Amino acid sequence: MKRLVKQAYQSDHGLEIIFSSLRWLFLLLSILVFYIQYKSNPVDLYLYLFITLVIFGFIYMALSDLCLHLTPENSFVYNTMTKGGPFFDYISYFALIALTGGIYSPLIPIAYLIILHVTVYWKFIGGMIASLLFMVGYTIVFMIQASNKLSYDYMTYSTQLVFLLLIGFLGGIVVSRERQLFTEKNVLENLANKDHLTNLHNHRSFQEQLRVSKEKNLVFYLVFADIDEFKKINDKYGHVVGDLVLKKIAKVLSTNIPQNVGTVYRYGGEEFAILLFTDQYCLVERLLENLKLKISEEVHYCHGGKFSVTMSFGCSKNGSEEPIQLIEEADRLLYEAKRQGRNRIIHKQELKSG
Ligand code: GH3
Ligand code: MG
Ligand code: MG
Repeated sequence: MKRLVKQAYQSDHGLEIIFSSLRWLFLLLSILVFYIQYKSNPVDLYLYLFITLVIFGFIYMALSDLCLHLTPENSFVYNTMTKGGPFFDYISYFALIALTGGIYSPLIPIAYLIILHVTVYWKFIGGMIASLLFMVGYTIVFMIQASNKLSYDYMTYSTQLVFLLLIGFLGGIVVSRERQLFTEKNVLENLANKDHLTNLHNHRSFQEQLRVSKEKNLVFYLVFADIDEFKKINDKYGHVVGDLVLKKIAKVLSTNIPQNVGTVYRYGGEEFAILLFTDQYCLVERLLENLKLKISEEVHYCHGGKFSVTMSFGCSKNGSEEPIQLIEEADRLLYEAKRQGRNRIIHKQELKSG
């Protein structure tokens, strides 16, 4: 539960999981409410309509859950299903309300949750529009509910309208404020931990991760990787092209290191640090060979011409030394790779060239 709340606090995806779980809960609650009411007032038409609604609800929710867990976040399908959710909720809500007692339905407060859900994506304006739409829907249900209304009905109706308006208004303000703080926090975190040119984690973030990994005594490899003869690229094509090459190299490195194995950091200049959390030496060997190959195969274009670059790697394994000594060792292995002619990998274990 604590984990779920933490996830929901940190990401929209976590929040969507809560909303989707609530839908299932309310589906069960609706069946219970309808069943109790049907027992005292068995109208077959209502039963058929309700069963149809439940079947559609079930199909939609199952599909939506599949998309939530199987499609990548921010993909078209994911966005359509999550952002489209409140529209589906709106329509099924009024069908449900009409079938379970109109303005006296015990399920009326579900509207507040749907309005809050809308504010997650469309903030204050979304919250207000959702409130107004619920007020309109609620008014229609009220109008067709009974012909001779008592003053008590009018009182219930108007109180609900005020609540709907307040939820949209206050919910919108609270969510907008929270979102703004969240965005600002993300911007600050990015500024502190990311390298602005390559968008990789920066030197500071590397030192922090190394310290934590050392403290936890994790099994990992530290690799230093440096672009060969990069100064010549700058001298020949200019610093703007040099920057573009750095960006592309950073992309090649980060996309070819599986996220569950490791992370690449821009250590400084044209030098990168890679932390690989595995105890399988052959996996590290394979990964680095692949990186070396991919870097050399990457073609860079400039003024109608094209060129490619190579990289040298020094790979050390975490032991009982201090972080600074581990860095020095990886640096020494990298230097050895340069000394032996560049475009190669030197591993600590056997000081063999790749
Ligand atoms: P080696 O194979 O020995 O590593 O040779 P090298 O030329 O790559 O190494 P050297 O240290 O002589 O030069 C590194 C160059 O990288 C010099 C510097 O101008 C360039 N460089 C460092 N950071 C950046 C950057 O952010 N953008 C660009 N365009 N160049 C950078
Ligand atoms: Mg270099
Ligand atoms: Mg260098």
